[in-house]
Formats: sequence, C-alpha cells, structure tokens
Amino acid sequence: MVIVMEQGAEPGQIEAVIEAVQKEGFTPFVNPGVERKVIAVLGVIDSVKVALVDRFSNLPGVERVQLISEAYKLSSRSYHPEDTLIEVGGVRIGGPEVVIIAGPCSVESRSQILEAAEAVKAAGAKMLRGGAFKPRTSPYSFQGLGEPGLKLLAEAREATGLPVVTEVLDPHDISLVVKYADVLQVGARNMQNYALLQRLGKTSKPVLLKRGPGCRLREMLQAAEYIMIGGNHRIILCERGITTFEDATRNTTDINAIPVLKHWSHLPVILDPSHSTGHVRYVSAIACAGVAAGADGLIVEVHPNPAEALSDGVQSLTPERFQQMMQVVKRVSWAVGREVAAK
Ligand code: PEP
Ligand code: MN
Repeated sequence: MVIVMEQGAEPGQIEAVIEAVQKEGFTPFVNPGVERKVIAVLGVIDSVKVALVDRFSNLPGVERVQLISEAYKLSSRSYHPEDTLIEVGGVRIGGPEVVIIAGPCSVESRSQILEAAEAVKAAGAKMLRGGAFKPRTSPYSFQGLGEPGLKLLAEAREATGLPVVTEVLDPHDISLVVKYADVLQVGARNMQNYALLQRLGKTSKPVLLKRGPGCRLREMLQAAEYIMIGGNHRIILCERGITTFEDATRNTTDINAIPVLKHWSHLPVILDPSHSTGHVRYVSAIACAGVAAGADGLIVEVHPNPAEALSDGVQSLTPERFQQMMQVVKRVSWAVGREVAAK
C-alpha cells in the first residue's frame, strides 16, 4: 500500500500518518521525493487490513491511498514517481548524462589497472570498473587478486579521480570491499543471493545490481527490494544479457528490459554490452542500441592488451576501440536528447 500525501502536506500531518501506520504493525518508508511525499506501507495487507485503506484515506493531508499489487514496492514508480539520481564521487547516474563505466574484467596487475584507468578516462569514462573477486564458471579459472586487487583499484582512483565499481561475491567480504569501492557490484550469478542482498541493504554505498541470466525483470526488482528494505535505496539496475536458445552470442541482450525497467521503476538502468554480447565485434552496436533505448549508462570491458587478459579478453575492447565506441555513443546520445562526456 502507498499513501500519497497532498502537495504541501504539513510535517505534522505526515508524522500523524506515520504513527497511524506503525500502530497497525506496519513499517512505513517515506520517499525522499521533494515534489510530494509518498509513504510506503510494507507488510502483508490481508482481507482484514484492507479496511485500513479507507481509514488512512481520511487522515488529514492524505490525497489518496493505493494498493500496490506488484511484489516490489520501494523500487516502483508508484512509491517514487520521479527518477532517482545517484551521486557517486561527483558523478550523477539517472540524470541527463549517459554515464560510462569502463575498465578491465579483472584487476590483474598494477600496470594493467593503471593503464586501463588512464585510457578509459582519456576517452571520457566517468567511472572505473575492475573485479578483484571474480565469479568464474570454472573453479580452475583465475579467481581475482582479492584484497591486493582492491588496493590497486584504490590506487587507480587516486591517480585518475575515477570512482571505482567492483564486485562483492560473498556477504563475508562486504566489510572489506566497502573500504575500497565506491559502488558495490552484485554479479548476475548472485542476483538472487538473498543473504548478500540483505547485507548490502545495511551498507551506505550504492549497489550495481546485475540481472541474473535466467531471471525475469519482476524478479530483478524484487531483488532490489531486498536491498532497499534494509535502508539502502541507492541501486543501479544493470541489464547484462540473458540465456536464450541463441548461441551466436554469449548472451542475448534484452533491449526491452531498459524501457520496461524505466517504466516500472524509478531506479537508474544501465547496460553491459560486453557480457550481453560476449564479443568485441558487437559491443559498440549494442552499446548504441542501449543508449537509444534510454539507458542511463553503460558498463564496458576495456583492457590494454585483451589478447593477454586473464578473463573475458574476447569481449574486451582495446583503448582505441573504446574511444571509437565513445564517438558513436556520443552521437546516439545527442540524437536521443542525452549527453555523454566523450573526448
Ligand atoms: C563482470 O562484470 O565481470 C561479470 C562477471 O559480470 P556478470 O556478473 O554480469 O557475468
Ligand atoms: Mn567480465
């Protein structure tokens, strides 16, 4: 249920509604929207409690009370009609700018991450990506450098000023990763790791939530809900391709996901054209498609020497190819009324 307050409702009226909601045993969440306050009432609304709709509707300052039938609430547009803007180290995601996050799949060495960071910055990227804890399909593949990798990311941030995005694989690693990262990535394989999501709800860093390869968009928003219910509302949703019968590409980019998620949710939505295609040949085209479809950003794998990459080399752009991609992405961004900081 959401309680939509009248525009200009007084603080005392909002307080009285919150108290009434708590008295009924529900947890109220007040959206931070400035236009109009909306109070989400979380908990099971059964056939008895549904009578509360009328009671709450009659409280002073209340414009209307609406039952939300969707299984996600805090991430829904009904609760928060305006787009959510997430600010990280001076970068704003969810506004007019299409924010480009780029860097290698994995942090491999000091020179590799520093070189990658400088190169992506020079082409206009606003954030650096790089994995220190890697979710690999084979246990025999490179698993990431762990904490030394996080330290190298922090060094690359120092050198370039780019905020860093890195994956946290295990709930036990959260306290370590938050010390170094600016944005915590939940990988596709962990989208429904509810223990991890719940713990991330208690952190204050933004979360980049990737879509599970076999997950529906509704399930993705319910995953976001697990984080939001803990109090962390700074979530960036990321489409990264889904598993279909088509095997010409590593995954199938679900372009539809972008406008659908933007319609259902107020959270920023970005696209990962690297994992969604799995091959450098297709990354730029799909990056453009994502921007044309309304993505608020892109996360792209770039490696100084893809042939020697320890993970995902086939889909990693060289700095030169990344720069070329930025040029076309810039033109598409303009065409759809957005900006991108391509150099
Ligand atoms: C990655 O970003 O390198 C990664 C492992 O992505 P995904 O979780 O989408 O497979
Ligand atoms: Mn990767």
